[in-house]
Amino acid sequence: MLDFNPHKTNCTSCAACYSICPIHCISMEKDAEGFMYPYASDTCIHCGLCEEICPAVHHTHQEESFDQQCFAATHKDSNIWQRSTSGGAFASICEAWSDQDTMIVGAAWDGLRVHHITVIGASNILPLHKSKYIASDIEDTFIQIREYLELGKKVVFSGTPCQVAGLHAFLQNKWPNLLTVDFICHGTGSPDVFAECVKQISKQFGKEVTHYEFRAKPSQIHEENYISKIQSGNSKLYITNDPYIQLFLKQDCLRPSCGANCMYRVKKRPSDITIADFKGLHQIFPELVGNKHNYSTIVFNTPKGASLLPKLQQNMHMLPCSIDDIIRFNPLFGQQTKASEHRDSFFAEFTKHPAKAIEMFTTPYLPLKRRLRTRIYYFLPAWLQKRLYNLACLIKKSNK
Ligand SMILES: Cc1cc2nc3c(=O)[nH]c(=O)nc-3n(C[C@H](O)[C@H](O)[C@H](O)COP(=O)(O)OP(=O)(O)OC[C@H]3O[C@@H](n4cnc5c(N)ncnc54)[C@H](O)[C@@H]3O)c2cc1C
Repeated sequence: MLDFNPHKTNCTSCAACYSICPIHCISMEKDAEGFMYPYASDTCIHCGLCEEICPAVHHTHQEESFDQQCFAATHKDSNIWQRSTSGGAFASICEAWSDQDTMIVGAAWDGLRVHHITVIGASNILPLHKSKYIASDIEDTFIQIREYLELGKKVVFSGTPCQVAGLHAFLQNKWPNLLTVDFICHGTGSPDVFAECVKQISKQFGKEVTHYEFRAKPSQIHEENYISKIQSGNSKLYITNDPYIQLFLKQDCLRPSCGANCMYRVKKRPSDITIADFKGLHQIFPELVGNKHNYSTIVFNTPKGASLLPKLQQNMHMLPCSIDDIIRFNPLFGQQTKASEHRDSFFAEFTKHPAKAIEMFTTPYLPLKRRLRTRIYYFLPAWLQKRLYNLACLIKKSNK
Protein backbone atom coordinates (compact mmCIF):
# COMPACT_ATOMS: atom_id res chain seq x y z
CA MET A 1 0.00 0.00 0.00
CA LEU A 2 1.14 3.55 -0.66
CA ASP A 3 2.68 5.51 2.15
CA PHE A 4 -0.24 7.81 2.86
CA ASN A 5 1.95 10.23 4.71
CA PRO A 6 3.52 11.08 1.40
CA HIS A 7 6.69 13.01 0.91
CA LYS A 8 4.98 16.18 -0.16
CA THR A 9 7.67 16.92 -2.72
CA ASN A 10 6.61 13.80 -4.69
CA CYS A 11 2.82 13.62 -4.60
CA THR A 12 1.28 15.74 -7.38
CA SER A 13 -2.33 14.98 -6.44
CA CYS A 14 -2.81 13.33 -9.85
CA ALA A 15 -5.59 11.23 -8.27
CA ALA A 16 -4.52 7.97 -9.99
CA CYS A 17 -4.58 6.14 -6.61
CA TYR A 18 -7.95 7.65 -5.68
CA SER A 19 -9.40 6.59 -9.06
CA ILE A 20 -8.04 3.02 -9.11
CA CYS A 21 -8.99 1.96 -5.57
CA PRO A 22 -11.42 -0.99 -6.00
CA ILE A 23 -13.23 -0.29 -2.74
CA HIS A 24 -13.10 3.53 -2.89
CA CYS A 25 -11.35 3.81 0.44
CA ILE A 26 -9.04 6.64 -0.71
CA SER A 27 -10.17 10.23 -0.37
CA MET A 28 -8.43 13.44 -1.43
CA GLU A 29 -8.13 15.86 1.47
CA LYS A 30 -6.78 19.35 1.85
CA ASP A 31 -3.69 20.16 3.95
CA ALA A 32 -3.00 23.42 5.80
CA GLU A 33 -1.48 25.03 2.68
CA GLY A 34 -4.63 24.27 0.67
CA PHE A 35 -3.30 21.39 -1.48
CA MET A 36 -5.01 18.00 -1.88
CA TYR A 37 -3.36 14.72 -0.83
CA PRO A 38 -4.69 11.14 -0.80
CA TYR A 39 -5.61 9.37 2.43
CA ALA A 40 -6.77 5.76 2.91
CA SER A 41 -9.47 4.86 5.42
CA ASP A 42 -9.39 1.87 7.79
CA THR A 43 -11.44 -0.14 5.29
CA CYS A 44 -8.32 -0.50 3.06
CA ILE A 45 -7.87 -4.15 1.93
CA HIS A 46 -4.14 -3.71 1.20
CA CYS A 47 -4.45 -4.87 -2.41
CA GLY A 48 -1.43 -2.73 -3.36
CA LEU A 49 -2.96 -1.38 -6.60
CA CYS A 50 -2.46 2.25 -5.57
CA GLU A 51 1.25 1.77 -5.04
CA GLU A 52 1.62 -0.35 -8.19
CA ILE A 53 0.42 2.49 -10.42
CA CYS A 54 1.56 5.62 -8.53
CA PRO A 55 3.59 7.73 -11.01
CA ALA A 56 5.52 9.29 -8.12
CA VAL A 57 6.74 5.80 -7.12
CA HIS A 58 7.26 4.40 -10.64
CA HIS A 59 8.18 7.41 -12.70
CA THR A 60 8.12 6.51 -16.41
CA HIS A 61 8.93 8.58 -19.47
CA GLN A 62 7.47 8.59 -22.97
CA GLU A 63 8.53 5.28 -24.52
CA GLU A 64 7.91 6.10 -28.16
CA SER A 65 11.00 7.30 -29.96
CA PHE A 66 9.81 10.10 -32.19
CA ASP A 67 11.46 13.25 -33.53
CA GLN A 68 9.33 15.94 -31.93
CA GLN A 69 7.88 18.51 -34.36
CA CYS A 70 7.48 22.09 -33.14
CA PHE A 71 5.41 25.04 -34.30
CA ALA A 72 4.41 28.58 -33.41
CA ALA A 73 0.68 28.80 -34.11
CA THR A 74 -2.24 31.15 -33.78
CA HIS A 75 -5.91 30.54 -34.53
CA LYS A 76 -7.34 32.08 -37.70
CA ASP A 77 -10.64 32.76 -35.93
CA SER A 78 -10.21 35.95 -33.85
CA ASN A 79 -13.08 35.02 -31.51
CA ILE A 80 -11.42 31.73 -30.59
CA TRP A 81 -8.05 33.46 -30.19
CA GLN A 82 -9.70 36.09 -27.95
CA ARG A 83 -11.10 33.51 -25.54
CA SER A 84 -7.85 31.48 -25.42
CA THR A 85 -4.79 32.17 -23.30
CA SER A 86 -2.18 32.10 -26.02
CA GLY A 87 -2.85 31.34 -29.69
CA GLY A 88 -5.84 28.99 -29.29
CA ALA A 89 -3.89 25.73 -29.72
CA PHE A 90 -6.16 23.85 -27.32
CA ALA A 91 -9.35 24.78 -29.21
CA SER A 92 -7.80 23.89 -32.54
CA ILE A 93 -6.58 20.50 -31.27
CA CYS A 94 -10.10 19.73 -30.01
CA GLU A 95 -11.58 20.72 -33.39
CA ALA A 96 -9.02 18.56 -35.22
CA TRP A 97 -9.40 15.40 -33.09
CA SER A 98 -13.06 15.43 -32.20
CA ASP A 99 -16.33 14.31 -33.65
CA GLN A 100 -19.55 15.51 -32.02
CA ASP A 101 -19.46 12.55 -29.60
CA THR A 102 -15.93 13.13 -28.35
CA MET A 103 -15.48 13.65 -24.61
CA ILE A 104 -13.21 16.61 -23.87
CA VAL A 105 -11.77 16.84 -20.38
CA GLY A 106 -10.07 19.91 -18.93
CA ALA A 107 -9.99 22.46 -16.12
CA ALA A 108 -12.98 24.72 -15.49
CA TRP A 109 -13.98 27.23 -12.81
CA ASP A 110 -16.42 26.10 -10.12
CA GLY A 111 -17.13 29.46 -8.53
CA LEU A 112 -13.65 30.55 -7.55
CA ARG A 113 -12.18 27.02 -7.35
CA VAL A 114 -10.95 24.93 -10.26
CA HIS A 115 -11.76 21.32 -11.11
CA HIS A 116 -11.63 19.02 -14.13
CA ILE A 117 -14.89 18.51 -15.98
CA THR A 118 -16.05 16.64 -19.07
CA VAL A 119 -17.90 18.15 -22.02
CA ILE A 120 -19.09 16.47 -25.20
CA GLY A 121 -18.01 17.87 -28.58
CA ALA A 122 -15.57 20.67 -29.49
CA SER A 123 -18.39 23.21 -29.68
CA ASN A 124 -18.83 22.97 -25.87
CA ILE A 125 -15.30 23.72 -24.67
CA LEU A 126 -15.99 27.32 -23.58
CA PRO A 127 -15.63 26.59 -19.80
CA LEU A 128 -12.29 24.85 -20.44
CA HIS A 129 -10.68 27.82 -22.19
CA LYS A 130 -8.13 29.95 -20.37
CA SER A 131 -5.37 29.04 -17.97
CA LYS A 132 -6.38 28.92 -14.35
CA TYR A 133 -3.11 29.12 -12.44
CA ILE A 134 -4.48 27.14 -9.51
CA ALA A 135 -4.33 23.40 -8.74
CA SER A 136 -7.30 21.71 -10.43
CA ASP A 137 -9.06 18.74 -8.76
CA ILE A 138 -9.38 15.67 -11.01
CA GLU A 139 -12.36 14.33 -9.02
CA ASP A 140 -13.96 11.36 -10.87
CA THR A 141 -12.94 12.35 -14.40
CA PHE A 142 -10.36 9.51 -14.83
CA ILE A 143 -13.11 6.97 -14.11
CA GLN A 144 -15.48 8.70 -16.55
CA ILE A 145 -12.73 8.68 -19.21
CA ARG A 146 -12.15 4.93 -18.85
CA GLU A 147 -15.88 4.21 -19.13
CA TYR A 148 -16.12 6.35 -22.27
CA LEU A 149 -13.06 4.75 -23.89
CA GLU A 150 -14.50 1.31 -23.15
CA LEU A 151 -17.57 2.31 -25.19
CA GLY A 152 -15.19 2.81 -28.14
CA LYS A 153 -15.56 6.61 -28.09
CA LYS A 154 -12.91 9.27 -28.44
CA VAL A 155 -11.50 11.37 -25.58
CA VAL A 156 -9.24 14.43 -25.36
CA PHE A 157 -7.64 14.98 -21.94
CA SER A 158 -5.89 18.25 -21.20
CA GLY A 159 -3.98 19.02 -18.01
CA THR A 160 -0.62 19.47 -16.34
CA PRO A 161 2.10 16.96 -17.33
CA CYS A 162 1.71 15.24 -13.92
CA GLN A 163 -2.06 14.88 -14.45
CA VAL A 164 -1.43 13.33 -17.90
CA ALA A 165 1.08 10.93 -16.32
CA GLY A 166 -1.53 10.11 -13.65
CA LEU A 167 -4.15 9.34 -16.29
CA HIS A 168 -1.79 7.03 -18.20
CA ALA A 169 -0.88 5.28 -14.94
CA PHE A 170 -4.55 4.78 -14.08
CA LEU A 171 -5.53 3.52 -17.55
CA GLN A 172 -2.46 1.29 -17.81
CA ASN A 173 -3.22 0.17 -21.38
CA LYS A 174 -2.69 2.35 -24.43
CA TRP A 175 -5.93 3.61 -25.94
CA PRO A 176 -5.82 4.65 -29.62
CA ASN A 177 -8.96 6.74 -29.04
CA LEU A 178 -7.36 8.86 -26.33
CA LEU A 179 -5.45 12.05 -27.15
CA THR A 180 -3.52 13.68 -24.30
CA VAL A 181 -2.45 17.32 -24.21
CA ASP A 182 -0.18 18.83 -21.56
CA PHE A 183 1.51 22.23 -21.33
CA ILE A 184 4.85 23.67 -20.35
CA CYS A 185 4.08 24.19 -16.69
CA HIS A 186 5.34 26.78 -14.24
CA GLY A 187 3.52 24.86 -11.46
CA THR A 188 0.13 25.11 -9.78
CA GLY A 189 -0.67 27.43 -6.91
CA SER A 190 -2.64 26.92 -3.72
CA PRO A 191 -6.43 27.30 -4.09
CA ASP A 192 -6.59 28.63 -0.51
CA VAL A 193 -4.01 31.33 -1.23
CA PHE A 194 -6.00 32.31 -4.31
CA ALA A 195 -9.22 32.46 -2.23
CA GLU A 196 -7.54 34.72 0.31
CA CYS A 197 -6.17 37.00 -2.44
CA VAL A 198 -9.68 37.27 -3.89
CA LYS A 199 -10.99 38.24 -0.44
CA GLN A 200 -8.45 41.06 -0.25
CA ILE A 201 -9.17 42.21 -3.80
CA SER A 202 -12.91 42.23 -2.98
CA LYS A 203 -12.19 44.56 -0.06
CA GLN A 204 -10.16 46.91 -2.25
CA PHE A 205 -12.71 46.67 -5.10
CA GLY A 206 -15.54 47.38 -2.65
CA LYS A 207 -17.62 44.48 -4.02
CA GLU A 208 -17.51 40.72 -3.71
CA VAL A 209 -15.61 39.24 -6.66
CA THR A 210 -17.73 36.56 -8.31
CA HIS A 211 -15.75 35.80 -11.51
CA TYR A 212 -12.05 35.78 -12.22
CA GLU A 213 -10.05 35.49 -15.42
CA PHE A 214 -6.27 35.24 -15.67
CA ARG A 215 -4.41 36.51 -18.74
CA ALA A 216 -7.42 38.50 -19.92
CA LYS A 217 -7.26 40.03 -23.38
CA PRO A 218 -9.02 43.37 -23.12
CA SER A 219 -9.60 44.79 -26.58
CA GLN A 220 -6.53 46.06 -28.45
CA ILE A 221 -4.06 44.64 -25.91
CA HIS A 222 -2.38 41.73 -27.57
CA GLU A 223 0.89 41.18 -25.76
CA GLU A 224 1.58 38.18 -23.57
CA ASN A 225 0.33 39.66 -20.35
CA TYR A 226 -0.66 38.92 -16.80
CA ILE A 227 -3.70 41.17 -16.72
CA SER A 228 -6.53 39.69 -14.65
CA LYS A 229 -10.20 40.47 -15.19
CA ILE A 230 -12.26 40.56 -12.01
CA GLN A 231 -16.00 40.74 -12.02
CA SER A 232 -18.70 41.37 -9.48
CA GLY A 233 -22.09 40.92 -11.09
CA ASN A 234 -22.03 43.30 -14.06
CA SER A 235 -19.11 45.43 -12.82
CA LYS A 236 -15.72 44.44 -14.17
CA LEU A 237 -12.21 45.68 -13.72
CA TYR A 238 -8.92 44.78 -15.41
CA ILE A 239 -6.01 44.69 -12.99
CA THR A 240 -2.24 44.48 -13.31
CA ASN A 241 0.06 43.46 -10.50
CA ASP A 242 -2.51 40.84 -9.41
CA PRO A 243 -1.36 39.79 -5.88
CA TYR A 244 -2.04 36.11 -6.54
CA ILE A 245 -0.03 36.23 -9.78
CA GLN A 246 2.82 37.93 -7.90
CA LEU A 247 2.98 34.97 -5.47
CA PHE A 248 2.51 32.47 -8.30
CA LEU A 249 5.30 33.87 -10.49
CA LYS A 250 7.70 34.15 -7.54
CA GLN A 251 6.81 30.47 -6.80
CA ASP A 252 5.90 31.40 -3.21
CA CYS A 253 2.51 29.64 -3.34
CA LEU A 254 3.27 26.59 -5.53
CA ARG A 255 2.58 22.99 -4.62
CA PRO A 256 5.68 21.37 -3.07
CA SER A 257 5.96 18.91 -5.99
CA CYS A 258 6.16 21.78 -8.52
CA GLY A 259 9.02 24.06 -9.54
CA ALA A 260 12.34 22.73 -8.24
CA ASN A 261 10.80 19.31 -7.51
CA CYS A 262 8.84 18.78 -10.75
CA MET A 263 9.69 15.40 -12.34
CA TYR A 264 7.92 16.23 -15.61
CA ARG A 265 10.06 19.00 -17.05
CA VAL A 266 11.67 16.62 -19.49
CA LYS A 267 12.01 16.72 -23.25
CA LYS A 268 10.17 13.41 -23.57
CA ARG A 269 6.73 14.44 -22.38
CA PRO A 270 3.97 12.07 -21.17
CA SER A 271 1.47 13.55 -23.65
CA ASP A 272 0.78 13.32 -27.40
CA ILE A 273 0.94 17.11 -27.75
CA THR A 274 2.51 19.81 -25.56
CA ILE A 275 1.17 23.36 -25.80
CA ALA A 276 2.43 26.60 -24.23
CA ASP A 277 2.86 30.30 -24.75
CA PHE A 278 5.19 30.95 -27.65
CA LYS A 279 8.09 32.85 -26.13
CA GLY A 280 10.74 34.67 -28.18
CA LEU A 281 8.28 35.05 -31.09
CA HIS A 282 9.84 38.24 -32.46
CA GLN A 283 13.40 36.99 -32.10
CA ILE A 284 12.64 33.75 -33.96
CA PHE A 285 10.18 35.25 -36.46
CA PRO A 286 11.12 38.95 -36.86
CA GLU A 287 8.55 39.20 -39.66
CA LEU A 288 5.81 38.90 -36.97
CA VAL A 289 6.69 42.14 -35.14
CA GLY A 290 3.55 44.27 -35.22
CA ASN A 291 1.29 41.22 -35.52
CA LYS A 292 -1.80 41.71 -33.37
CA HIS A 293 -2.08 38.16 -31.96
CA ASN A 294 0.04 36.17 -29.53
CA TYR A 295 1.00 32.61 -30.54
CA SER A 296 0.93 29.17 -28.93
CA THR A 297 3.76 26.67 -28.92
CA ILE A 298 2.69 23.28 -30.30
CA VAL A 299 5.01 20.29 -29.91
CA PHE A 300 3.96 16.93 -31.35
CA ASN A 301 5.45 14.25 -29.10
CA THR A 302 3.99 11.16 -30.77
CA PRO A 303 2.90 10.08 -34.26
CA LYS A 304 -0.73 10.32 -33.03
CA GLY A 305 -0.20 13.97 -32.12
CA ALA A 306 1.58 14.70 -35.41
CA SER A 307 -1.24 13.12 -37.43
CA LEU A 308 -3.34 16.21 -36.58
CA LEU A 309 -1.03 18.60 -38.44
CA PRO A 310 -3.00 18.83 -41.72
CA LYS A 311 -6.25 19.60 -39.83
CA LEU A 312 -4.56 22.10 -37.52
CA GLN A 313 -3.14 23.91 -40.54
CA GLN A 314 -6.69 24.50 -41.78
CA ASN A 315 -7.57 26.42 -38.57
CA MET A 316 -4.28 27.97 -37.54
CA HIS A 317 -1.40 29.97 -38.98
CA MET A 318 1.48 27.59 -38.23
CA LEU A 319 5.20 28.28 -38.48
CA PRO A 320 7.69 25.43 -37.97
CA CYS A 321 10.61 25.93 -35.59
CA SER A 322 13.16 23.78 -33.82
CA ILE A 323 12.97 22.19 -30.38
CA ASP A 324 16.09 24.23 -29.52
CA ASP A 325 14.14 27.44 -30.18
CA ILE A 326 11.51 26.30 -27.67
CA ILE A 327 14.06 25.26 -25.04
CA ARG A 328 16.05 28.50 -25.46
CA PHE A 329 13.11 30.86 -24.89
CA ASN A 330 10.88 28.67 -22.73
CA PRO A 331 13.39 26.72 -20.60
CA LEU A 332 10.68 25.30 -18.31
CA PHE A 333 10.04 22.84 -21.15
CA GLY A 334 12.90 20.73 -19.85
CA GLN A 335 14.35 22.36 -16.79
CA GLN A 336 13.45 22.66 -13.12
CA THR A 337 13.44 26.08 -11.50
CA LYS A 338 15.33 27.12 -8.40
CA ALA A 339 13.01 26.90 -5.39
CA SER A 340 11.68 30.14 -3.95
CA GLU A 341 13.61 31.25 -0.87
CA HIS A 342 10.42 32.72 0.59
CA ARG A 343 7.98 29.82 0.16
CA ASP A 344 8.46 28.39 3.65
CA SER A 345 8.22 31.76 5.40
CA PHE A 346 5.19 32.69 3.28
CA PHE A 347 3.29 29.53 4.19
CA ALA A 348 4.42 29.70 7.84
CA GLU A 349 2.70 33.09 8.03
CA PHE A 350 -0.21 32.12 5.75
CA THR A 351 -1.25 29.13 7.85
CA LYS A 352 -1.46 31.40 10.93
CA HIS A 353 -2.57 34.76 9.54
CA PRO A 354 -3.66 34.44 5.88
CA ALA A 355 -4.55 38.10 5.34
CA LYS A 356 -1.31 39.34 6.90
CA ALA A 357 0.77 36.93 4.79
CA ILE A 358 -0.76 38.25 1.55
CA GLU A 359 -0.17 41.80 2.71
CA MET A 360 3.46 41.10 3.66
CA PHE A 361 4.44 39.23 0.50
CA THR A 362 2.61 41.20 -2.21
CA THR A 363 1.87 44.76 -3.28
CA PRO A 364 -1.76 45.86 -3.90
CA TYR A 365 -3.20 45.50 -7.38
CA LEU A 366 -3.27 48.35 -9.89
CA PRO A 367 -6.19 49.08 -12.20
CA LEU A 368 -5.16 48.66 -15.83
CA LYS A 369 -5.47 52.34 -16.82
CA ARG A 370 -2.00 53.04 -15.37
CA ARG A 371 -0.50 51.09 -18.28
CA LEU A 372 -1.50 53.59 -20.90
CA ARG A 373 1.91 53.44 -22.63
CA THR A 374 1.43 49.76 -23.54
CA ARG A 375 -2.10 50.42 -24.75
CA ILE A 376 -0.97 53.25 -27.03
CA TYR A 377 1.76 50.99 -28.49
CA TYR A 378 -0.79 48.43 -29.58
CA PHE A 379 -2.93 51.05 -31.31
CA LEU A 380 0.02 52.08 -33.55
CA PRO A 381 0.27 50.78 -37.12
CA ALA A 382 2.40 47.62 -37.57
CA TRP A 383 5.24 49.44 -39.42
CA LEU A 384 5.66 51.92 -36.55
CA GLN A 385 5.53 49.13 -33.94
CA LYS A 386 8.31 47.36 -35.88
CA ARG A 387 10.49 50.51 -35.91
CA LEU A 388 9.95 51.10 -32.18
CA TYR A 389 10.65 47.45 -31.44
CA ASN A 390 13.95 47.53 -33.40
CA LEU A 391 14.92 50.78 -31.69
CA ALA A 392 14.22 49.26 -28.26
CA CYS A 393 16.39 46.23 -29.19
CA LEU A 394 19.24 48.56 -30.25
CA ILE A 395 19.03 50.55 -26.99
CA LYS A 396 18.98 47.30 -24.97
CA LYS A 397 22.06 46.00 -26.84
CA SER A 398 24.02 49.23 -26.42
CA ASN A 399 23.23 49.25 -22.67
CA LYS A 400 24.72 45.74 -22.21
C1 LIG B 1 -1.03 26.12 -14.12
C2 LIG B 1 -0.49 26.48 -15.49
C3 LIG B 1 0.87 26.83 -15.64
C4 LIG B 1 1.36 27.16 -16.90
N1 LIG B 1 2.69 27.51 -17.02
C5 LIG B 1 3.18 27.86 -18.24
C6 LIG B 1 4.55 28.24 -18.39
O1 LIG B 1 5.31 28.32 -17.41
N2 LIG B 1 5.01 28.54 -19.64
C7 LIG B 1 4.19 28.47 -20.73
O2 LIG B 1 4.66 28.76 -21.83
N3 LIG B 1 2.89 28.13 -20.63
C8 LIG B 1 2.37 27.81 -19.41
N4 LIG B 1 1.05 27.44 -19.28
C9 LIG B 1 0.25 27.27 -20.51
C10 LIG B 1 -0.38 28.54 -21.03
O3 LIG B 1 -0.85 29.33 -19.96
C11 LIG B 1 -1.57 28.23 -21.96
O4 LIG B 1 -2.47 27.38 -21.27
C12 LIG B 1 -1.15 27.51 -23.17
O5 LIG B 1 -0.33 28.37 -23.90
C13 LIG B 1 -2.35 27.08 -24.02
O6 LIG B 1 -3.01 28.17 -24.49
P1 LIG B 1 -4.28 28.03 -25.47
O7 LIG B 1 -4.53 29.37 -26.02
O8 LIG B 1 -4.03 26.92 -26.42
O9 LIG B 1 -5.29 27.44 -24.43
P2 LIG B 1 -6.68 27.78 -23.67
O10 LIG B 1 -7.79 27.70 -24.69
O11 LIG B 1 -6.55 28.98 -22.90
O12 LIG B 1 -6.78 26.46 -22.85
C14 LIG B 1 -6.18 26.27 -21.64
C15 LIG B 1 -6.04 24.78 -21.41
O13 LIG B 1 -5.38 24.61 -20.17
C16 LIG B 1 -6.13 23.73 -19.34
N5 LIG B 1 -6.02 24.26 -17.98
C17 LIG B 1 -6.34 25.50 -17.57
N6 LIG B 1 -6.10 25.63 -16.26
C18 LIG B 1 -5.63 24.44 -15.82
C19 LIG B 1 -5.24 23.93 -14.55
N7 LIG B 1 -5.27 24.68 -13.46
N8 LIG B 1 -4.84 22.65 -14.47
C20 LIG B 1 -4.83 21.86 -15.56
N9 LIG B 1 -5.19 22.28 -16.79
C21 LIG B 1 -5.57 23.55 -16.92
C22 LIG B 1 -7.57 23.79 -19.83
O14 LIG B 1 -8.21 22.58 -19.57
C23 LIG B 1 -7.36 24.03 -21.32
O15 LIG B 1 -7.18 22.80 -21.94
C24 LIG B 1 0.52 27.12 -18.03
C25 LIG B 1 -0.84 26.81 -17.87
C26 LIG B 1 -1.34 26.48 -16.62
C27 LIG B 1 -2.80 26.14 -16.47
